[in-house]
Amino acid sequence: MSNNPHANAIKQLEKVAKLLRVDYEGQEKAFDVIIKRLKKPDFVHQKKLTIKMDNGKKKQFQAYRSQHNNARGPYKGGIRFHQDVSLEEVKALSTWMTWKCAVTGIPYGGGKGGIIVDPRKLSKRELERLSRAYVDFLTTKIGPWVDVPAPDVNTTGEIMSWMVDQYQKNLAKKGLIQENPLATFTGKPLTLGGSEGRDEATGLGGVMVLEKLVAKMGFKDKKKVTIAVQGFGNVGYWFAKHAADRGYKVVAISDSKGGVFDPKGIDAAKALSCKKEQGSLGKCYTKNIANEELLELNVDILVPAALENVIHKGNADKIKAKAIIEMANGPITPEADEILAAKNIVLVPDVLSNSGGVTVSYFEWVQNLQGYYWSHKEVIDKLQPLMETAFAQMWNMKTKHKIDGRMATYMTAVKRVVDAMMLRGGIN
Ligand code: NAD
Repeated sequence: MSNNPHANAIKQLEKVAKLLRVDYEGQEKAFDVIIKRLKKPDFVHQKKLTIKMDNGKKKQFQAYRSQHNNARGPYKGGIRFHQDVSLEEVKALSTWMTWKCAVTGIPYGGGKGGIIVDPRKLSKRELERLSRAYVDFLTTKIGPWVDVPAPDVNTTGEIMSWMVDQYQKNLAKKGLIQENPLATFTGKPLTLGGSEGRDEATGLGGVMVLEKLVAKMGFKDKKKVTIAVQGFGNVGYWFAKHAADRGYKVVAISDSKGGVFDPKGIDAAKALSCKKEQGSLGKCYTKNIANEELLELNVDILVPAALENVIHKGNADKIKAKAIIEMANGPITPEADEILAAKNIVLVPDVLSNSGGVTVSYFEWVQNLQGYYWSHKEVIDKLQPLMETAFAQMWNMKTKHKIDGRMATYMTAVKRVVDAMMLRGGIN
């Protein structure tokens, strides 16, 4: 695999297509055309945005929006503000969003956007001007039935609020007042059309997957199932909290400063308040461990929930967990994947295990469209069957084809998109 994320996404697709092709007997030609189309986004929009800086000077920032595929519904995906954003990254992320939405069965295709910018170097007013300029660039290319952006790295509910406002203003200028600006962006604050449960949705969705995985692997007593969670941000915290609340033993957690270990089990809520008081997790527990050590602990379930590429060919052989639930995006490199598969470590891949977030974003969109809002309980009750069904389908595919969890998930997802494109026809 190369360092070009889009080239990697294409290679994954080719691998999946090889296995899937037998399911399309008599339609091979159409199948091949569809796979060829899926190797490229439908549209890539790009523009240099010019904004006025606080010192009065003008500055340009490169912006992108990749719309990969909308056979199953509007393009959906976040907007990333980061200095390392690139065209190839945005194209790859939009491709993976197509698979993620297909895996959970939510009616969206894949999209992703980004701006090459280090937002820490902008004042709040500059950040707002840049966010509004991004919407000016995309006003005619997004919308509730076209493309529904959301937050991603370094973009927040506040930024989504500015974007909703700018989008509505731009529509009004064009006389398009019947559009629904709230349903055009998700990840909004609760007071501006956000959904209950969105904060915890990704971590909690992962725990719903955990419950099903543990049952399939034959663990009898959840109190004895040990878990290590790398990353104690939004995803890691909620995963650790819900897992412990349901009786699992979370024995290790970590953040960028390092990790802590307690064989008796860690209470995530207490750990978070102690971290806030003391400034670091390390001051709250007697046994401190390095982040690399956490990954190599002899636990039942390992949960990377921080960064990409943390399990690589240099450490994959040292992993002792029986199963890995990928909560971060891309925490395992392709080389490490092969090493872990050879060790028979069960894998639940990111596009499935962290899809609780986009699923509740979908619920937010549904609520915005209907103008009727659900309680926290209703949101969680609706999330659970979707996560469980997605897991069951992956497990069936894995068992039927004797393949690893990642391949099984991709096969389910790609098949859904191919089937939708076959039904639409017009392939030649
Ligand atoms: P976050 O910024 O809230 O938290 C990241 C955490 O990782 C922080 O606690 C940070 O200290 C820790 N960290 C950083 N470097 C580390 C290291 N070397 N070792 C251990 N911990 C380290 O981010 P988040 O929203 O929790 O996202 C985490 C991952 O999950 C990312 O890969 C993100 O793309 C993915 N993800 C998030 C969501 C979501 O809804 N937030 C949805 C899908 C996927």
